[in-house]
Amino acid sequence: LNNGIGSWPHRRLPKSAGRTALVCRGRTTTYDELAERVDRLAAVLREHGVRPGDRVAYLGENHPAFLETLFAAGGCGAVFVPLNTRLAAPELRFALGDSGATVLVHASSLTGLALPGSADTAVGLRLRVDDGPDPRFTGEIPADDVDLEEALAAADPVRVDVHVTLDDPALILYTSGTTGQPKGAVLTHGNVTWNCMNVLVDFDLASTDVSLMISPLFHVAALDMGALPTLLKGGVLVLEPRFDPGEALRLIEEHRATAISGVPTTYQMLAEHPDWATRDISSLSKLTCGGSAVPHRVLAAYEERGLAFTMGYGMTETAPGATTLPVRYSAAKAGSGGLPHFFTDVRIAGPDGSPVQSGETGEIQICGPNVIGAYWQRPDATEQSFDDGGWFRSGDMGHLDEDGFLYISDRLKDMIISGGENIYPAEIEQVVAELEAVAAVAVIGVPDEKWGEVGRAVITVRDGATITAEDVLAHLDGRLARYKLPKTVVFTPEMPRTASGKIRKADLRKQFG
Ligand code: ATP
Ligand code: MG
Repeated sequence: LNNGIGSWPHRRLPKSAGRTALVCRGRTTTYDELAERVDRLAAVLREHGVRPGDRVAYLGENHPAFLETLFAAGGCGAVFVPLNTRLAAPELRFALGDSGATVLVHASSLTGLALPGSADTAVGLRLRVDDGPDPRFTGEIPADDVDLEEALAAADPVRVDVHVTLDDPALILYTSGTTGQPKGAVLTHGNVTWNCMNVLVDFDLASTDVSLMISPLFHVAALDMGALPTLLKGGVLVLEPRFDPGEALRLIEEHRATAISGVPTTYQMLAEHPDWATRDISSLSKLTCGGSAVPHRVLAAYEERGLAFTMGYGMTETAPGATTLPVRYSAAKAGSGGLPHFFTDVRIAGPDGSPVQSGETGEIQICGPNVIGAYWQRPDATEQSFDDGGWFRSGDMGHLDEDGFLYISDRLKDMIISGGENIYPAEIEQVVAELEAVAAVAVIGVPDEKWGEVGRAVITVRDGATITAEDVLAHLDGRLARYKLPKTVVFTPEMPRTASGKIRKADLRKQFG
């Protein structure tokens, strides 16, 4: 398996020669151009001493250089480490230090983050991708910050075959850090490849597909569910540098995009944009959505236009697809995360770790060639996360119905136990989110003398709207069993969120618990 996923642009040749691989800000890169740029970049990396197993990090918004770096790192047998652009400098230093990356490719617009974030780390070479100035950076760009295009122009595009196996690491992806410090999930070439196989089989992706990336590539969902399967198939990838709902709607119309994948929030922002009603988005046929539960009113807005979602459930550690709900079951199995992907298995385990009957709630566990073998330098977390049979413990609770469809309750860590009953905050949050005035809601457990624990709803009100605690409780009354009703409602101007936009409940529990 020479070069693993690093060889994909080359393996598309000559079949895809002259065909568009990437479109970004009006600039087009064909498959043969992509392969040549990857060879040049791999030569630059090798010149700097990058060897199999070394780590190469990338910090930037969606840009062709992101994928070029990924393939070039693969071509050297090195491990690609994408970084979230919303990290603060100390968080970036953690990820660079933890991964031990020796090269950082960064966007010029993030110079003010890349310089302090890579100080005191093993990074010995910084390559700068020109995507405009960084308004927050006023200093001089140091001489050891090399312009990527200059380095590529000087490089010799000679291809060197490095032998990698399916078990060799390809990517280190950091988990969102919703439940604590992010963990580096080590995705092998095999994990990435098998996840792509799942996507190709279950989403019917074809070489004629045009995928618009509205979510950042540094998120596992956009990268592994959207970008890599599209390129594996020889389709067109349209990169939106930074998500803007109006621009995304325009790009769908301009490029006759057929596929988009995103998280519920991005889909909600598209449907709430003033151009939503007037743009022609009829070319879309493959909409995939996952990452967290989708509010019902978002689904309804798309249904009105005849657009149905393929919902999905997954996590960084499963590269990331675990289950998917085929469109034909959207109505019959509404609210379900779907069936296991083609090459993946899902089971529900009880408290003693053994599988439970269908209908019973327990921990969701996943097994398959897309599931990681280990976390990066975290033997403790690896040990805790796998059982003896190799099943990955997701930390999420849910059940399978009699037809094998998965229903996700919530995270085990967020579950509230009140008077001996298990309460899953996600269910209550769905109902609270039905209220127009609610911009965001999180339900947490707070100690209670009588019940042990009771729910408290923490709400951020939409700009310009008003709502009282009584309004919220009145809305819930009759819609949920009495024992599930939160006892109190508090308001906060802003939710504490992870860099990937998830609410940090541990922080809320500290503040409001
Ligand atoms: P950390 O593991 O660091 O605490 P995280 O679990 O949020 O962070 P990710 O791998 O980005 O990191 O997210 C995976 C999690 O997202 C899943 O374990 C699950 O809790 C949630 N999730 C994903 N898809 C869905 C979905 N369709 N419905 C509900 N929850 C989902
Ligand atoms: Mg997790």
